Amino acid sequence: MRALCYHGKKDIRCDTVPDPKIEDGRDAIIKVTSCAICGSDLHLFDGFMPGMKEGDIVGHEFMGEVVEVGADNKKLKVGDRVVVPFTICCGECDQCRRGNFSVCERSNRNKDVADKVFGHTTAGLFGYTHLTGGYPGGQAEYVRVPFADVTPVKVPDGLTDEQVLFLGDIFPTGWQAVVQCDIQPTDTVAIWGAGPVGQFAVRSALLLGAQQVICIDHVPERLAMARAGGAITIDFDNESVLERLAELTQGKGPEKCIDAVGMEAHATRTIDSVYDRAKQALMLESDRAHVLREMIYVCRPAGTLSIPGVYGGLIDKVPFGALMNKGLTLRTGQTHVNRWTDDLLRRIQEGQIDPSFVITHTVGLEQGPQMYTTFRDKQDGCIKVVLKP
Ligand code: NAD
Ligand code: ZN
Ligand code: ZN
Repeated sequence: MRALCYHGKKDIRCDTVPDPKIEDGRDAIIKVTSCAICGSDLHLFDGFMPGMKEGDIVGHEFMGEVVEVGADNKKLKVGDRVVVPFTICCGECDQCRRGNFSVCERSNRNKDVADKVFGHTTAGLFGYTHLTGGYPGGQAEYVRVPFADVTPVKVPDGLTDEQVLFLGDIFPTGWQAVVQCDIQPTDTVAIWGAGPVGQFAVRSALLLGAQQVICIDHVPERLAMARAGGAITIDFDNESVLERLAELTQGKGPEKCIDAVGMEAHATRTIDSVYDRAKQALMLESDRAHVLREMIYVCRPAGTLSIPGVYGGLIDKVPFGALMNKGLTLRTGQTHVNRWTDDLLRRIQEGQIDPSFVITHTVGLEQGPQMYTTFRDKQDGCIKVVLKP
């Protein structure tokens, strides 16, 4: 089959590789009809994630048709159309039973190594580093889904791939980021990052009843899409984030702040904070906490910071004193996708939201490698790429 494979930093290729096989009775093999490139894939592409190997099949946002089912799998049958959450989970461990799927205790088969390297571990993830289990990903013609009697979401008739594909990751991710903010009707929610996750956070915040949603980025097309979704936008290249946020909140700061940027922030700008300006000369280029720091400084006391943005390793220069003395609540995590899929699927069916709004590019798998660059560098108005294997 054809699949997108990792060959090192900034080197993704469309290779011919062996077809996947059933390895366990609970598995299923999916023929991928649509898959997508995620901001998290860019962390691999940019070389920020240790534990990748030459030839690894990438991709964790995918859906398709079941073509083979393991002997013990009672949930799926050949011909079912499913979306597969990016977090692999067993459904039986202590964390899965509590709905904490992204920290499943059993699905990361390299858990012990990850614990040694990072001091922490996550559930198994598709198409990611060997520290998250090294499971072949879904930017491919076929993929093996482990524990396929637990996570796959069956797609009801009448919905297109484009309407449901993002149930596997970025829609629940934006949603969880907002749910974690415990939205009150008087809240202003500020969202850093107008990438795909930020876009879903904007719409989720409004669906969940926030009074005002502000989105911060510097890519014009992305800001325009956030405005179309109901947000007020701040272009950090041309405006002072601090001043505009103060203006929009009568000087008090947003009650709820969401970091939908993650590790990428360090590469784009230094923050404009009165506290930090004097220290900026001392900051290392690899300092990755700009958005985090800015959120801690601007958030209204007793507010909440929600962080879907992905971080790895140590983060330096986080003003923990401000976090503590302002009494802020910090919530973060990989998304517990299956916690939200039933509700979000229903909202799609009811027409409350059509997630396909975020797609700007649809191409074949062969164009995938080029699309990693287009998406990363925000060329050609790119916001979300869908690949059709
Ligand atoms: P993306 O890279 O397309 O979007 C990031 C956006 O942030 C870009 O539009 C960029 O211009 C903007 N940005 C960069 N620096 C900024 C700054 N200093 N201030 C404001 N905006 C800034 O990625 P995405 O697909 O939207 O994903 C966003 C983050 O969410 C990534 O870190 C990704 O890994 C993470 N993610 C997490 C989960 C989860 O389970 N928690 C799931 C999916 C994605
Ligand atoms: Zn993702
Ligand atoms: Zn589990």
